[in-house]
Amino acid sequence: MCPQLVGESTATATGRAPQRTWTGTCLTVACQIGVAMAVLDGWQYVWHRCMHLNRFLYRHVHSWHHRLVVPYAFGALYNHPIEGLLLDTMGGALGFLASGMSPRVSIFFFTLCTVKAVDDHCGMWLPGNMFHRCFWNNTAYHDVHHQLRTSGYNFSQPFFVTWDRVFGTHMPYVIEEDRAHGVLRARPMALHTSAGK
Ligand SMILES: [Zn+2]
Ligand SMILES: [Zn+2]
Repeated sequence: MCPQLVGESTATATGRAPQRTWTGTCLTVACQIGVAMAVLDGWQYVWHRCMHLNRFLYRHVHSWHHRLVVPYAFGALYNHPIEGLLLDTMGGALGFLASGMSPRVSIFFFTLCTVKAVDDHCGMWLPGNMFHRCFWNNTAYHDVHHQLRTSGYNFSQPFFVTWDRVFGTHMPYVIEEDRAHGVLRARPMALHTSAGK
């Protein structure tokens, strides 16, 4: 009796499993990371805005993060533990699950999220920073949120500005040179134009 294979096999006539092309793999990973970024952004926008609108949540939870009037890198994840769990841990988990990415890809995604959050709070506008070239939501954009924490702008984080544009909370910025102190300053566009009148 000849042995019979049962079940499905992905092997080819040569006996080797078909190889994914490098391009196909890169496209799949890019799509998964894109989906995870969109899900994380939507989740964080909703909760971030809620924490500003609800006085209890702002006073007891989100105000911890807004002790940083002038953000700095180590303050990126200076949050109340509940905020860390709700926005970062649950948002990241939802992005991971919705995208269907593998644990290996998730290493790059979560690293990207962490580095992006640190960059958004670093207070540095260095030439050649790829985050500043790739994202409108960047160091200056989030800096404006910390400046205008009571007026309610620029809630979107960490990647896109989409939800701010959709819900009318988008505040563009200008980068001004403060020659007296030798620094650059991010200024909300509305304040900049009214000051210039
Ligand atoms: Zn905030
Ligand atoms: Zn912040």
